[in-house]
Amino acid sequence: MSKVIIGVDLGGTNLKIAIVTEDKKILVQGDCSTEAKAGPEVVMDQMEKLIKELLQSQDLSLANVLAAGFGIPGPLNWRTGVVYDPPNLENWKDVPLGEEMNKRLGVPCFVDNDANVACYGEYWMGAGQGAKSIVVFTLGTGLGGGIVIDGELLRGIDGTAAELGHLKVERNGRLCGCESRGCLECYASVTGMLRTAKLDWDKAETSLKKVTGGDPNKLNGLMIYIAALEGDPFALKVYTETAEWIGLGAASMVNALNPERLILCGAMSSGGDLLYDTVRKTMLENSFKVPGKRCQLLPPDLGNNAGVLGSAGCALARFQTECA
Ligand SMILES: [Zn+2]
Repeated sequence: MSKVIIGVDLGGTNLKIAIVTEDKKILVQGDCSTEAKAGPEVVMDQMEKLIKELLQSQDLSLANVLAAGFGIPGPLNWRTGVVYDPPNLENWKDVPLGEEMNKRLGVPCFVDNDANVACYGEYWMGAGQGAKSIVVFTLGTGLGGGIVIDGELLRGIDGTAAELGHLKVERNGRLCGCESRGCLECYASVTGMLRTAKLDWDKAETSLKKVTGGDPNKLNGLMIYIAALEGDPFALKVYTETAEWIGLGAASMVNALNPERLILCGAMSSGGDLLYDTVRKTMLENSFKVPGKRCQLLPPDLGNNAGVLGSAGCALARFQTECA
C-alpha cells in the first residue's frame, strides 16, 4: 500500500485531522475542541493522540505515514515551523511546532499558514482542481486570501504574501484593523458590509430596522443578505456595493496574476447569483479582456474541510520538493 499523509487544521476553537492517501482519497477524519487555553503542550498532546487514534482506526501506524501538514493561524515561519504568537491560541510564544511534532511522530512535519493551506485545499481537491493558477478570497469577518501560481503556493520572501484583504483600494479610506487605511477588507467582507450599512442607516427606509429594533449594532450579514433577496432597496444597495468591492478586488487579481479561477470561500460564499453575478460583472468591467474572460469565478467545493485537506496536500507537495 502507498503511504498516507496527515492533515491537521488547528483553530482556536476546533482541531480537525484527516488521513489522506497520495492519490487524494480521504480515509478518515476526526475532530475535537481545541484546549487552546491550556497552552501549546496540551494542544500538541491532543494532536498526537487524535492522529494515533485515527491511524489505528484504519489499521495503520506512523510507519505508514509519509508526512504530516499543520495549518495554523499565523504569524509563523513556514520554513522553520515556528509559530510566533497567534491571537487565538493563548500562551503560544515562539513554539517550534514542526520540530516538536516531528519528535512526537517521527515523520516529516510541515507547518503552514491556515489561509494558505485552505487555498491549497481548494486547488488540490476542490474547486481549483485541474487548474494551475487560482486565487481564493475567504469572505468572513475579514477577507483572507491565498494564491497558487503554476501549482505552487505564493508565499513571498518572508512568507507573508497573499494578504489580499489588505490590498489598498481607497486612499485615506476606512481605518483597518491593520492600522492602515482603505484596505479591501474594510469594504469587501461581512464587517465591511456592516460598515457600509451603518453609513446611511439613520435616513434609510428599510425592513432591517424592524429586524434589529432600529439598532444598527444588531445587524448581521445574513440579515442584510435575506432582506436584499426579498427586494429591500436599502439592503440590496448595501449588498450590491459590497459585491462590487469584491469584484474590484477580483479585477486587480485578474490583472496582476492572470489566474484560471477565482474562488470565493467563507461565510459570504453561499450568496448565490446575487453575489456571483455582481462580482463577475464588476470584475469584467474593471479588468483586461483576455484575463477577465479567462478567469472563472466559482464557489468553493470543500467548505470547512479546505483547511484540513489542504494541510495534507501542502505536506505532500513540500515532502516531494524538500525531502525527495
Ligand atoms: Zn488592512
